Amino acid sequence: MEKIYDKCEICGNEEFEVLKKRESNKYAYYLVRCLNCGHVKEIEDKVKLSQAKLIISREDKSEAKMINLIHDVEYKVGDEIEVDGETLRITKIEVPESVNKAKGEEIKYLWTKSLSAPKKIGISINDRGKTYSIYLIVPPDFEFEVDKVYKVNEGLFKIKKIKTEKGDRRKAKAIEIKRIYGDPVKFSRSSIDLTEYLKDIKR
Ligand SMILES: [Zn+2]
Repeated sequence: MEKIYDKCEICGNEEFEVLKKRESNKYAYYLVRCLNCGHVKEIEDKVKLSQAKLIISREDKSEAKMINLIHDVEYKVGDEIEVDGETLRITKIEVPESVNKAKGEEIKYLWTKSLSAPKKIGISINDRGKTYSIYLIVPPDFEFEVDKVYKVNEGLFKIKKIKTEKGDRRKAKAIEIKRIYGDPVKFSRSSIDLTEYLKDIKR
């Protein structure tokens, strides 16, 4: 049985059986039946679709589901795609062997990282030879900057180093950050309060 993946308007199920299809390079028509409730509908598209398994990696958990890719569109590692309102960055393409780019029709597995999900950030603070770690869960586009002072509960620290996937940066968004290093500060006229994002402190 040939299957296609689309959301059923009646029951919300996402698997359809293909009853009829007509495809050309620029056009596709499918008559499909919901495998859960039996609802029959037509799907018409200006593009030909192929199915691949999509793996979304988020901060705490991963999700795998089927996705329709456009047959003759090229997908590349590093590209960003939108799926159900979530922005995903492609991290790996398998056809099934791993490649840097491939057309939709060749792809079996598409590995991605969510750019919309909150990001967990670890901050190492060195206080007179003792290091402790603060863990925050922040929005993916939350920006951190070297030399700025931040506040967590009653503690203040100044960022001295931001390590990202592409080396050290003076300023970076949470989504790119691997680790932050800071020094404690006794007093500051102004600080950016991170207390609401606090997840854990490990001493
Ligand atoms: Zn249904």
